[in-house]
Amino acid sequence: MKRLIFDTHAHYTSGAFNQNREMLLDSLPADGVAGVVNCGTDLVSSMESVALAEKYDWIYAAAGIHPESLIEEDSSTTMRFGGDWVAEMAAIEPLYQHPKVMAVGECGLDHHWPVPRDAQLQLFEAEICTALAHDLPLIVHDREAHAETYALLKKHKPKAVLHAYSGSAEDVKWLCKQGVYIGFTGVVTFKNAVKPLEAAAAVPLEYLLLETDCPYMAPEPYRGKKSNSGMIQYTAARIAELRGMETETLLQQTLENARRFYNIN
Ligand SMILES: [Zn+2]
Repeated sequence: MKRLIFDTHAHYTSGAFNQNREMLLDSLPADGVAGVVNCGTDLVSSMESVALAEKYDWIYAAAGIHPESLIEEDSSTTMRFGGDWVAEMAAIEPLYQHPKVMAVGECGLDHHWPVPRDAQLQLFEAEICTALAHDLPLIVHDREAHAETYALLKKHKPKAVLHAYSGSAEDVKWLCKQGVYIGFTGVVTFKNAVKPLEAAAAVPLEYLLLETDCPYMAPEPYRGKKSNSGMIQYTAARIAELRGMETETLLQQTLENARRFYNIN
């Protein structure tokens, strides 16, 4: 299969892949996967992402702290740093010098889970400033926090992707005008997907990115199962159908977008 899939947001360091990580990753190029950015969610997973990127030439890493890590019992943010994210960001900082660390993230805001508001706002703003300081793109998680997320994106104007986009088609317009890329998961293939499809139709083609957020968000016909980057073909087929284009053309375009966004030649 022609290698046209670029998974812009994956978590292969997740424990969900402990049984078969190596076998699965070895199989992906034959399934059409040309590139993957593996996102960190705390210091440990960021370091593990770098280790994966060192092992596979087509895997790249992002390093950062996810807002949920502030309250997750088994995150290094909690276990090793006792919630002191300033100290953890300082420990992550050297990773941004690594040639295969292409972005800051995954970071952002989450009002779905009871993450303390002030702490996550301060952490997110610090990570935006880190991205600007290193001239790196930013991978943004926005769950039920559109207003505050958008306010910070407007204030600092980082080069960013809103991953697993859950906002409106209306907001897509100014976001892309400001240079924000929009990422879509397998959710667009779900039967009840309305809002994500409206958004996917509204994004200017050059700002469209595809992702798995694996192990989550598997597209139909794999909904509810563990996802992997090869399944992006189903996500791409749905969006291509929606936009009245060939799947291969969409994959080619989103591959170019991903390389441009992450500065991968
Ligand atoms: Zn994620």
